[in-house]
Amino acid sequence: MEYDTIIGFETHVELKTKTKLFCDCLVDSEAPPNTHTCPVCTGQPGALPVLNKKAVDYAIRAGLALHCTTNRHARFARKNYFYPDLPKGYQISQYERPFCENGFLEIIDDCDQPYAVGIKRIHLEEDAGKLVHSAASFEESEYSLVDYNRSSVPLLEIVTDHERNPLRSVSEARAYLEKLRQILIYIGISDCVIERGQFRCDVNISIRPKGSSEFGNRSEIKNMASFRFIMDALEYEVKRQQGLLQSGKPLPQETRLFDEGKRITLPMRSKEDAPDYRYFPDPDLVELEIDRIFVEKIQGTLPELPDQKVDRIIEDYGIPKKDVLVLTKDKAVSDFFESCAAHCDDRKRLCNWIIKDLFRLLKEASVSTVECPVSPEDFSSLVNMMPKGEITDQIGRTVLEIMFETRQQPETIIEDQGLRAIQDTGLLETVLDDVIAENSDIAAQIKEGETRPIDFLIGQVMRKTSGKADPVRVRGLIQKKLT
Ligand SMILES: [Zn+2]
Repeated sequence: MEYDTIIGFETHVELKTKTKLFCDCLVDSEAPPNTHTCPVCTGQPGALPVLNKKAVDYAIRAGLALHCTTNRHARFARKNYFYPDLPKGYQISQYERPFCENGFLEIIDDCDQPYAVGIKRIHLEEDAGKLVHSAASFEESEYSLVDYNRSSVPLLEIVTDHERNPLRSVSEARAYLEKLRQILIYIGISDCVIERGQFRCDVNISIRPKGSSEFGNRSEIKNMASFRFIMDALEYEVKRQQGLLQSGKPLPQETRLFDEGKRITLPMRSKEDAPDYRYFPDPDLVELEIDRIFVEKIQGTLPELPDQKVDRIIEDYGIPKKDVLVLTKDKAVSDFFESCAAHCDDRKRLCNWIIKDLFRLLKEASVSTVECPVSPEDFSSLVNMMPKGEITDQIGRTVLEIMFETRQQPETIIEDQGLRAIQDTGLLETVLDDVIAENSDIAAQIKEGETRPIDFLIGQVMRKTSGKADPVRVRGLIQKKLT
């Protein structure tokens, strides 16, 4: 039997606000433990929360970027449960009346077609504190300490829709997560650094016989941060659930955990439902009326989104879409490209040099584009020199490596090391004559009309001139002499 897969995400994103969601303690993940706390975020009796307006701005900003409706009224609710990192005994979240609902995020699906993944809701909630165990794992620890610096840091929860255009495969799930992260970084509400837990997901998955409209029981895997582990867990679950259904065994609704070493999921507990949390409106926080002008102001300052940027770069610079997709994946890269393009006429060449040569150097040095030691001005002057014949492409690569190491300007490096391309045709001809004399058999083949050995002769001239001969000019000279 064939099965359909349905995957859902509840993604928690740490917002880039200066202060926490309900108090003026700083958000600072690097600070020593418990140095950014106060009666509000440690849940002291009688302390009253005051909502951070910037967090509301960011929630609505995300909603607009994901084509949601902004609700006129929003309300916070208490989600009750006990855990040592939650001093109040409840988390302030939203239940009824989240900020935004009914949006979508467009991905390219498995059939290479645009697919608008349904977004059910976006709401704000506070993060919990962090447990620090005395050993590597909880089981091996003698004791655990609690750091409340993270307590009440604003989180945005983005929930996909199960019924309206859900994710249907592991590869679509990956496309969704990558695109979501890209958009949130573009609109500047979060850095989404996965390693720092700023972008983490509860993942749920169910399968059902192909074409069926009833939902199967879901398993949920909580608090996943690594994309690779999410994909591994989903792939494992598809196989596990299919195996159970095929053998006629029951498939319970449950929360499972992912064993990173074995790459399998294991049962943890039966899944809790909303009633288990006894949600009720937080009496300390009034219901919010969202002003239309406030929303319009945010809409007015929404920056260009990734898809819009792709279309504009294709239109403005005439670069093939597949390359533009690479350039715009990381906003910093596309910003770098556009800063260079202002000084550079040959944009296709510029794009190639960024996505091939510059990317290679950045990767080798484990440096992000933001920290790139080569300035857009210097990079574009280097790229401009090659079509003018001032240096060859081969020398260009050497110069770029030196620029990357030393932060020197390309002109300085070329002058100091005598790397300028050989302009003197007489000199090139002399070198070529030597090469032809040393390779008379190959020259004879070219004379007889073979074209392939020409590249060999060009290579020999390049070798003798340490890469300073322009291969296009050498090719012209070979053709003049031998054909
Ligand atoms: Zn505080």
